Amino acid sequence: MFQLIINGRSRTCAPGQTILEVLRDTADDVPVLCADRRLTPIGGCRLCLVEIKGQTRPVAACTTSVADGMEISTHTVEIERLRRTQLRLLARDYPRQAFEDDSSNAFCTLIRSYGLESEVIGTAHPELIDDSHPCIHVDMSQCIHCFRCVRICEELAGRFVWRAWNRGDQTSIRPADGTNLRDSDCVSCGACVDTCPSGALIDKRDLQLAVPTTEVRTVCAYCGTGCELHVATNQSSVISVRPVVDAPVNKGHLCVKGRYGWEFVNAPDRITEPMIREGQQWQRVSWEHAIRFVAERLQATMDQWGPDAVGILGSARATNEENYIAQKFARVVIGTNNVDCCARVCHAPTAAGMKLMLGTGAATNSFDDIELARTIMVCGANPRENHPIVGDRIVQAVRRGADLIVIDPRRIELADHATLHLQPRPGTNIPLLNAMAHTIFQEGLHDPAAADHIDKWPDFQNFLSDYSPAAVADVCGVDAELIRAAARLYATQKPAMCFHGLGVTEHLQGTEGVMCLVNLALITGNIGRPGAGVNPLRGQNNVQGSAHMGCDPGILTGSVPLAEHRARFEAAWQAPISSRPGLNLLKMMDAAEEGKFKALWAVGYDIGLTNPNTESTLAALRSLDLLVVQDLFLTETARLAGTVFLPACSSVEKDGTFMNSERRIQRVRKAIEPRGESRTDWEIMCQVAGAMGKAKHFAFQDAEEIWNEIRSVWPAGAGITYARLENGGLQWPCPTEDHPGTTILHKEIFADQNRIKLRQIAFLPTPEQTSDEYPLLLITGRALYQFNAGTMTGRSSTAQFQPEDAVQMAPADAERLGIGEGEFVRIRSRYGEIAIKATVTTAVKAGELFATFQSADVFLNRLTSRTRDRFVQTPEYKVTAVRVDPVGSTVSIAE
Ligand code: SF4
Repeated sequence: MFQLIINGRSRTCAPGQTILEVLRDTADDVPVLCADRRLTPIGGCRLCLVEIKGQTRPVAACTTSVADGMEISTHTVEIERLRRTQLRLLARDYPRQAFEDDSSNAFCTLIRSYGLESEVIGTAHPELIDDSHPCIHVDMSQCIHCFRCVRICEELAGRFVWRAWNRGDQTSIRPADGTNLRDSDCVSCGACVDTCPSGALIDKRDLQLAVPTTEVRTVCAYCGTGCELHVATNQSSVISVRPVVDAPVNKGHLCVKGRYGWEFVNAPDRITEPMIREGQQWQRVSWEHAIRFVAERLQATMDQWGPDAVGILGSARATNEENYIAQKFARVVIGTNNVDCCARVCHAPTAAGMKLMLGTGAATNSFDDIELARTIMVCGANPRENHPIVGDRIVQAVRRGADLIVIDPRRIELADHATLHLQPRPGTNIPLLNAMAHTIFQEGLHDPAAADHIDKWPDFQNFLSDYSPAAVADVCGVDAELIRAAARLYATQKPAMCFHGLGVTEHLQGTEGVMCLVNLALITGNIGRPGAGVNPLRGQNNVQGSAHMGCDPGILTGSVPLAEHRARFEAAWQAPISSRPGLNLLKMMDAAEEGKFKALWAVGYDIGLTNPNTESTLAALRSLDLLVVQDLFLTETARLAGTVFLPACSSVEKDGTFMNSERRIQRVRKAIEPRGESRTDWEIMCQVAGAMGKAKHFAFQDAEEIWNEIRSVWPAGAGITYARLENGGLQWPCPTEDHPGTTILHKEIFADQNRIKLRQIAFLPTPEQTSDEYPLLLITGRALYQFNAGTMTGRSSTAQFQPEDAVQMAPADAERLGIGEGEFVRIRSRYGEIAIKATVTTAVKAGELFATFQSADVFLNRLTSRTRDRFVQTPEYKVTAVRVDPVGSTVSIAE
């Protein structure tokens, strides 16, 4: 440690810190305008000047590192005079009117603290106002040229939206492409607003809404990255959302959804009272009536058809505690294992494939490993749009020198940063990944230490002989040399970290695709090490937690097999658990169509809009005697087939925990009271359990009590208490209260006598093949501004960036079919047809299409097939053979 003397007092500090870092948040802190913890210091504003004994001139505290024995003075008369002079110069240009209207920003606060109010004499320049963006107000007459907006866009978001134009007095900051902010490359993450100290960039909601009275730290409600944020509220409204600067996952950054996607909480069409359908009408009813109704109808169904005619669907948008209650309800109240969640339609193949090969169905490493990896391979995922904070961290790693391999049929934005981009034909991941493994063996690039631990190594090599890059190049549509280059990079530039998404899992061989990635990681020794691993990017905020809590027919809390752990849970719950295998969501739909499944309780999941093959999904839902929909809005599931609607709380209206993609448990905290009569998911289910005579098993007073029961049945989470989560999240396994949590799994994988099995995955082409009638392959997925069914993002102001679904089409296909940009097309598959707007782009290859699925106007899943993953029945959303016909620009989408 270093010894310093600061203003005459002794201080110790760690070497390597800057003086500003040592001073921060202490009584000796100095003012700054150009510094932000998230940015490289530049010493530009000259306010953090300090004197160091022995040096003739003051130095900037932000750019000067401490040295042992340094004597620092922070507020001498001369230093304060320099600061006052500097502020005076800035005040001279700052608009007087803006200062009078709102002087709460950092710059105005500093002006006041130096008594310089009267020196604020600048005038406004209306020509410097840019009001084009739906969420961000720009008034560059308030700019003090600290360049924090320019720098944070580059250094945190990995983008270059802002630029300083001209020099000296003429300097002005505007979008780099010379347009307004709305038309620029801005992705609306709000980082520039968050760092701006002068009010030049401000959230419009801050201008429009009341001053917040409270601020609560919680977790984002969208993707599985799990960003932490501060929610500022005023009574019952969310006023604004800001990133938590010291959050381990997002480190002071958010994407557009986390920052601006919160207007849904107070949306006017939110349903806040229970309702029961009578004919085509919904009737509002009391909670007492609704709970009695649900309890009686469930009981009647069980009495008539047996417990296995009933199913429960947990939710990726519900907390761990609520999902725990959902699966306990299914097993203890109903007496069935028919319980599932939306992991079924996304990463169930990941959980199955990784568990089979590694013993744990979750990410092996942490997001912090991104900065340690020499190579990053992103396979079938689009993190710049769907997990933007991860995407931005990957881009920053590449800018620092890491290599990036992108495997994706589309030219996603990350491909612009990639060393190699492989664009396999949809449905050909298996031969491609096998060919990479083939190259690794062929060229002797495998990890020799790993080889010592792998069983039947020669058998695996023999199996791969059919998968040389040359042999698969035509099938995959990828040049053989490119496959070899990717294999070499991944195997030699180590550590290599793999991320994968639904482009791997949502296939006939989704589980096997994941196993191919594990094969690659194992043979190259890229597992159990920092900067390596196999890491699924989980789609929704708590989808990892939802399944892990037991919302899966075959597993119980902690992701343990039902068959092996049933007796332990029966003892813990003091209730019998059925040994009959349960149905997953897709099988529930099949059984409903066959008339064998009669009642479903769906928590926070719009099955109708998001399940594949809409026609059969709706037929199944409509055949039910009872469909309980528990949600915030009248979803398509409720509208088209619901019997009862139970109004749930949003994540800012309740307490609990979420589990992110890297196994991190984080606290979700209530920021506002529930809207209207809405209730938390766990309260509703516990009340129905009580009405069905099982109150003693569901006598919980709050979320923490449920969590403590979870800990009692989940040994790997036993050490994670709410008290410990006050200081940030913890990654399981964390078996004891003094355990620090686990950032990297399988560290022991290549140790001692450990034996490892590779999987020989033979390629099975999907039945979804093109034909003369259906000559194109459609891929479905998400995009930056909308999230899944659009239930939440569709109600926020940024939805105007992508108000409707669109299909991306290659220029060659568009020209051949006579389709222009923005024209409507009719798409037909073997299962249904839709009308959708076309957008012509080189991001997709000729012969392939990509479309989003957020809107009920389009109902994209009318097109998708019934093909499913062979192991866990995850639908094959990523390959559908279709044909496209132009219908002209004037045809209504609803036609
Ligand atoms: Fe929320 Fe994901 Fe965006 Fe983070 S990256 S702010 S968790 S949507």
